[in-house]
Formats: sequence, structure tokens, C-alpha cells
Amino acid sequence: MFDLILKNGTVYDGTGASGQRVDVGVRGGHIEAVGDLGNDATEVIDCSGLTVAPGFIDIHTHSDATLLSDADGYSLLMQGVTTEIIGNCGFSCAPCMKRELVEKFMIGRLPGQAFTWNSFGEYLDVLQAQKPGLNVGAYVGHNTVRLNIIGNEPRLADEDELTYMGNVLRQSLDEGAIGVSSGLEYNPGFHSDLQELVSIAKVAAEYDATYATHVRNRDWQYEMGVGEALATARLAGARLQLSHLVPKVGAPEHAADHILEMMDWTKRLGIDVGYDVIPHEWGPTFLYTILPRWAYEGGVKEMVRRLADPSLRPKLKHNPFPQWKLVAEKRWSELVLTRSGANPELIGLDFEEIGRRRNADPHDAILDILLEEDENMADLTWVGKISPDRDIRLMLEQSDCAVISDAITLNVTGPLKDVRFAPTAFGWTARFLGHYARDGAMMDLAEGIRRLTSLPAKRMNLDRRGELRPGYFADIVVFDAASIGDNSTLQDMNATPTGLVHVYVNGKAAVADGKRTPARAGQVVRRASRRH
Ligand SMILES: [Zn+2]
Repeated sequence: MFDLILKNGTVYDGTGASGQRVDVGVRGGHIEAVGDLGNDATEVIDCSGLTVAPGFIDIHTHSDATLLSDADGYSLLMQGVTTEIIGNCGFSCAPCMKRELVEKFMIGRLPGQAFTWNSFGEYLDVLQAQKPGLNVGAYVGHNTVRLNIIGNEPRLADEDELTYMGNVLRQSLDEGAIGVSSGLEYNPGFHSDLQELVSIAKVAAEYDATYATHVRNRDWQYEMGVGEALATARLAGARLQLSHLVPKVGAPEHAADHILEMMDWTKRLGIDVGYDVIPHEWGPTFLYTILPRWAYEGGVKEMVRRLADPSLRPKLKHNPFPQWKLVAEKRWSELVLTRSGANPELIGLDFEEIGRRRNADPHDAILDILLEEDENMADLTWVGKISPDRDIRLMLEQSDCAVISDAITLNVTGPLKDVRFAPTAFGWTARFLGHYARDGAMMDLAEGIRRLTSLPAKRMNLDRRGELRPGYFADIVVFDAASIGDNSTLQDMNATPTGLVHVYVNGKAAVADGKRTPARAGQVVRRASRRH
């Protein structure tokens, strides 16, 4: 007798194998059997005309702080995601020794939210106590570790600090972190050099854990950014994940092809190189990344002081290499504000329009808006039209390319209901399967499902997830492959997608008939094997 049988659907196991008309039987949170199973179950769900697949896995999110305010997981569950990996781009909520600094620079933190833990393990315990609606694994972030040890100081780490960083990373991995991430376009990660990066990637390698990196640059000097990451992995012997690897607008046209060739050379050396892309032209980041690096010194208080000083304004606006070349090219209409406490009426508007409304140069408007947020300026985010569609498609055509949201998990009710982050937050899986895989005729359904399931599960060494097979956790999604599609727009980012019907997390229905249930069956996924 099963707890649940999904009957009459077309079942894809996640390996890329074609669909089969079989039943899926679930018992005790696991998949018990796949085949002709009859009707002997507490619950039998008719999946006629629908696709049954492993739950989707999002290996790149920034929900570290938001899950603590609301762990429901609504925005991801409603698009079939049953596992997310947080702590990306160098930012994790733990360890937390210099609490105020870690809080100030943490992505997605809500105003007033207090970080009450010290170690990484304590953070994971707090997260599990929130009863997440989906499974969550977490990288430990290099930016966070560096803030704890060196603060905001714009300098290289010395030998003692490198040793200290290594020990903090080891402790975090021992306590369940799934890998080590870096974010080298961000403060304070951009102060590190190759030696520091090799030393942190070596710690990941000791544990056979993934070193994931948001590379130093993907437009002006894309080959330096990608090259540094490849050298880091080669010198450290680490498994590498290149995060959101589409060259940004402003990179030369050949950049994506060149990046693929660069990765190929490194793979030939036996280095395990993976990468992922956001299936959308618009991507998110912090608004304050418009500032030149020198402006970060001393932390947020000093940043506020500099923004308020009219004599420094020309110097602040003179930033020869901003994070996005879009900024240097003054493409203000391709930059949209997504979060602001002081100016909520401007959310969803582009900066050409905001400049018009404020009767100001858009660049000044951005700096003013940062200043108006005062010490919460690190909470402000925007999205930019940063990824050329042709490059997204070229990357997605590669059979080893994973797909990610790069978003934060949100909700339509509760404390997160007014938070906007990126148009991928609610619809990235549906956009990938609908807009790219199906409508763009880029790949068949079996391959599209593999990219969202077994491929990311293998990248992250997830135990018994990412495939529909006996013994695996019963993370399952049931959807209509003909109609699946995303509904998010820049003005209405938090729109749920079309086509998702049922979602199961560890055997419990999280979405039933297209509606979120009250179930909170997610597990914090800790790195299973010990150091070798
Ligand atoms: Zn990133």
C-alpha cells in the first residue's frame, strides 16, 4: 500500500530519457516504485495529459535572509522548484562574528531583521526551525567570511588572515555548508587576489565541495574574469561552478564563444567545470554597485557621508569600470528600480523615467536615491537588461549548461508580499521550459527537464534528488507541458506562471491543483560526506 500514486501521467525520470506512461508510487517521503502500480494507495491522483517529473532544483538563489522572514517558499514551489541552493555570489548569512557588518551587506535582508546566530551550523538550525516549504542547501560565502575577518578594509589578506579564513570555511563545511561561493564584483570580495581565491577554493576541494564564483567581470574584461576563475579551479584542484555565465551587454560579440572555448581547455585538464545561466535578459544586483570601489571604504556610514558631500559628487560619478557597462553607456531606460524603502513609488520604473520625474540627471537620481535610503542603502536593488538573448541561447544550447533564477524566494502574502527582486523570481522554470525549450525549439521536453533536475543535482552532489526512481526523495512536479509559461513582467514581477498543477516535497503535496497548500515539508540539506 502506497501513501500516494500518481497515475496516467507521462513520467520523465530526469536523466534525459523520454517519457513513459507509468505510475509513480510514494511511501514515507520516498519514491517506492515506478511502473504499473494499480490503485492501492491512500491517495490516487489522476495525471492524465500531464507531465510528471522530478522536482526542479534551483542551484543559485539569494533567499538566505528572506527564508527567515517567511520560509513558505511560495514563489519557487508555484513553479515546481522543490530544492534551492542559497549563499551564492559570496553572500551567506553565516558565519556571523561581526554581526552588524554581515547584516548590512546581506542580500535580501529585510529592514530591522536581526541575525541571531554565530556559526554556520547555528544558522542552518534556525533555518530548519522555520520549517521551510522546500528543501534548502547553503553555500558559505567568501564575502561574508572576509567581512567577518578583514571588515571593509580595501586590502589583500595577510597569511594569518588566509589561515583564519580557511579555518572558518572548514568549520562551516563541517557544519553542513554545501560548498564555498565567491562574488568578485562585490564588496569586499573584489579586494581579493588569486592567492586568496586559490586558498578558499582549496578548502572546498578538501571536502570535494563545489567552489562557485560570480566572476570579476563579464563585459569589459570578460576573459580576465573567467580566466581567473578557471585558474583558481586548476590551481586548487576544485570543482568549479561559474555562476550566471552569460557575457553582459557591452562584451564583444565573440565573448560567449570564447568563454565556451576557455572552459573547454580547462575541462580537458580534468578539472570539473560547470556553469549556469539565468533564462532572462534582465538580471538583478545591488543599486550601490554603481559606486566606485574607493567609496566603500569604512562601510555604510562612510558611504552615506560621501554621497551627501556635493564636492565628492563628480568623483563618485566618475567610475571608469562600473559593475555594469550599461551604466557607463548611460542606458538608463534599461535599468529598473526593484526595491526602495524611502521611495516605494518609484519601484518598477526605469531610471530615465525616474530622472524625468525628479528633474535630475539619472546618474544623480540614482546617487540621491541611495542617499535617501541612508544606512539601509545596501538593501536597494535594481534589474538591468544585461544579458544578450543570443548569448543566453548559445549557452542553453550546451548540454552541460544548468539553469538558475538568481532570485530570492518570495510570497504574495505575509512579510515578503511587497518585495520585488527579478522577473525570474516567480517564473524562471516556466520561462525556460516554455519560452526557450518549447517555443524556441531549443530542446525536447526530456532534455529540458534534465537541465532542471538531474543535472543540477549532480553538480551539487545532492543525495537522492533530481531523478524519479525508487529510493529517491519524493520531490515531484506535475505540469502541463503544452501550456507551461511565465507571466512575469518588469512592472508585475511577482506573477505566478501558467501550467503547474501539483508539486510534492518529500512526499507531501506543497501545491495541489495549482494552489499552495499549508504543507511545510522541506529539509535543510546539509553536506553529507565528511572531509576526505
Ligand atoms: Zn551573482
